[in-house]
Amino acid sequence: MSPVNTKKVGLQTALIHSDDAISKESDVSPAIHLSTTYDYDSDAEPIKWTADKEYVYYSRIWNETTSRAEAAVSAIVNANAVLYASGLAAIFALFTHLHPKRVAIHTPGTGGYGGVVRIIDIMKRLSNTQVLYIDENCEGIQKHDLIFLESPINPSGECCDIAYYAKLAHSKGALLAVDSTLAPPPLQDPFTLGADYVVHSATKYLAGHSDVLAGIVATKDPKVAQELRFDRIHLGSILQPVSSHTLLRSLRTFSLRIQQHSKNGYAIAQHLYRLSTDAEFAKSLGIDGTLVKKVHHDSLQTESFVRKTLVGGHVSCFSVVFRTPEIAKKFCTSLQFFHHATSLGSVESLCEWRLMSDPNVNPSLVRLSIGIEDISDLISDINRVLASVTSESKTSARGDEQYDN
Ligand SMILES: *Cc1c(COP(=O)(O)O)cnc(C)c1O
Repeated sequence: MSPVNTKKVGLQTALIHSDDAISKESDVSPAIHLSTTYDYDSDAEPIKWTADKEYVYYSRIWNETTSRAEAAVSAIVNANAVLYASGLAAIFALFTHLHPKRVAIHTPGTGGYGGVVRIIDIMKRLSNTQVLYIDENCEGIQKHDLIFLESPINPSGECCDIAYYAKLAHSKGALLAVDSTLAPPPLQDPFTLGADYVVHSATKYLAGHSDVLAGIVATKDPKVAQELRFDRIHLGSILQPVSSHTLLRSLRTFSLRIQQHSKNGYAIAQHLYRLSTDAEFAKSLGIDGTLVKKVHHDSLQTESFVRKTLVGGHVSCFSVVFRTPEIAKKFCTSLQFFHHATSLGSVESLCEWRLMSDPNVNPSLVRLSIGIEDISDLISDINRVLASVTSESKTSARGDEQYDN
């Protein structure tokens, strides 16, 4: 088949056809190529290794299934995507490639994926990388340094001003990388807001079925993507063929899934917010609305940059603070259609009493990742649990009030 120009077709068409031309077979459904090694060409010329070439000798270097998945992911991010064995493998690859003297990350306690801090610990061990914290001025950031922004941010799902940080980084001669895992395109495109690199844990929405670990680094520059692939040969972190196939299979329906995630996320966040602010409404459902203390969601943010950043829809991973840790725990362990498990971005809804995996978080906080089930069933499930907690808590004492949000 001839190559598809992914810029000239819609996203859903690109997701189904962007990799057609890579295949050497006639299979309609992509084959999984498991071979770790390939026959050399008949002319048997010794290899001259450079980063500007594609090598097809060994599966740590290249394999067709991974290249096909890379083509589909590239269509989503509208850039050159390089695939890795996990989200953290992708972030580590970016850090080792750029090797900045200083990296600014989110201040402890303000959110951000914890694993990134552990990667920076490794960088510090290797090369004295200095850590700075992201704030209004990113004081101390200099030429060639990196601001590593997660937006929307874990666990609140709230959006940061990507365009602001892009300008700030560039005014200092530094670079901006955005971890856009919680809002893949079409929800937001950090490149249009000035980001130099975009990373995703493809384990989340891109793969979307809780069955594959994968990560990407995306760049607008095909030469840089080729350098990243060259590094990846020696980091040994290419995504494996079976995982690449599972990812590719999932990407075929990505655009449909993300739209449903986004609609459902908005509906649940608004429902919980209404319960917390409209006592009559809550009462009509047999719920004490004060059980829900605070809802964090992009639709509840009032800053003007929010809608300019999340142009394509609302996030479906966000957090709710309940009145007590006991209510948070009870909520997570009583729902029928939400697995009580960590992670996010899957077709099935997930909830997590965050204290389970983060000892420093508000113990009354629950992170929700809304799946693509029928919204009426998810809302009934939440109402049922909150009504049951309401009737139980009428007799029990009020607990921990030490955290405000
Ligand atoms: C899950 C996640 C990661 C790490 O991805 P893995 O695929 O688990 O390695 C990084 N950043 C964010 C925002 C995540 O949610």
